[in-house]
Amino acid sequence: MKAAFFYGPNKIKIKNINIDNASNDSLTLKVLSCSVCSYDVRTYRNGSFKVKPPIVLGHEICAETTNEFKGKNFKVKSQERVSIYPVIPCLHCWHCNQKKYNLCSNLKEIGSTVNGGYAEYISIPRTLFEIGGIVPVLDNVTNEEASLIEPLACCINGINQIKSIDFDSIVILGDGPIGLMQLMMLKRNFPSTQVMVVGKINHRLEMARKLGADKVYDVNNNSNFEPISNLFLELKDKQAPNLIIVSNNNANSLGVACKLANKNGKIIIFSGLNNPKGESQDIKEIPSIDANFIHYNQISVMGSFSSNPENLRMAMELVNSGEIKIKNLITNAFELYRLEDAIKNSESFQGLKSIINKF
Ligand SMILES: [Zn+2]
Ligand SMILES: [Zn+2]
Repeated sequence: MKAAFFYGPNKIKIKNINIDNASNDSLTLKVLSCSVCSYDVRTYRNGSFKVKPPIVLGHEICAETTNEFKGKNFKVKSQERVSIYPVIPCLHCWHCNQKKYNLCSNLKEIGSTVNGGYAEYISIPRTLFEIGGIVPVLDNVTNEEASLIEPLACCINGINQIKSIDFDSIVILGDGPIGLMQLMMLKRNFPSTQVMVVGKINHRLEMARKLGADKVYDVNNNSNFEPISNLFLELKDKQAPNLIIVSNNNANSLGVACKLANKNGKIIIFSGLNNPKGESQDIKEIPSIDANFIHYNQISVMGSFSSNPENLRMAMELVNSGEIKIKNLITNAFELYRLEDAIKNSESFQGLKSIINKF
């Protein structure tokens, strides 16, 4: 089978390798579609502290079972379409006992620490079936949409964390696919709440408007978000946001979020941030933020990472019912041999989601 191996920054090679033989402990699935995440872009360019090459990246996966596979609490038929939860938990740690698999102390990640979806076939361990991490694709959902179930599930996980918070004004810092998914979810769950999107790409901000953003702000490609100070001044007179979601990987975003937040405001860091020093590691230190501002204004800074299987099931239902029109975000499709082009497309903000759907 063909698989795209990541060998280190800026190096991906398609190789022909043997398909993993089916065993009692895993099932081989045929990949139907795998979408490019900004994590893949960052890893391709800079490497990641998590990734030890050579490895097949890709964790937003729709695949088809190649055999029947069953266990105590699961059964899949052959040739069933599924979306895959990309976290392989240990099932022994405290977080796994709470069924918070995304927080597992010993987690392995598909497309990061074990081979992922940029390949013709993928081997999925029994554990993932046992925890409900293999989610059947419903009839109205295309293969391409099914590979976006995983990032949508991450947005649902993020939004679940704010359910008990009072807010009436939200700013999303980021106009990429994740920011737009969050926008759709927020508008669905809190229709009367004002949601503003801050971004730098015209066609993406246009899409944000189309998807229901009450206001969009263009920071004009300025990496320090300088034009956003106008937004700050404007909002100060009215209602500054009490919830800010950082949905882009600019390391300055957290500082910007602190400047914008209303008193008692909450900030969710949804994206992994780029290292401003340009080192070949993910960022290790939080860029300096004003601790006194956080203290005197009673600001909370929260994180949101990955998702849990029930979030994928909900995401699948929302796409199947048409409540979340994820199709709007799928703009570029590539064959596997053009994976680097797909990554570069995402990196240069061409369209929204780039997807590999031919292998
Ligand atoms: Zn992703
Ligand atoms: Zn665990």
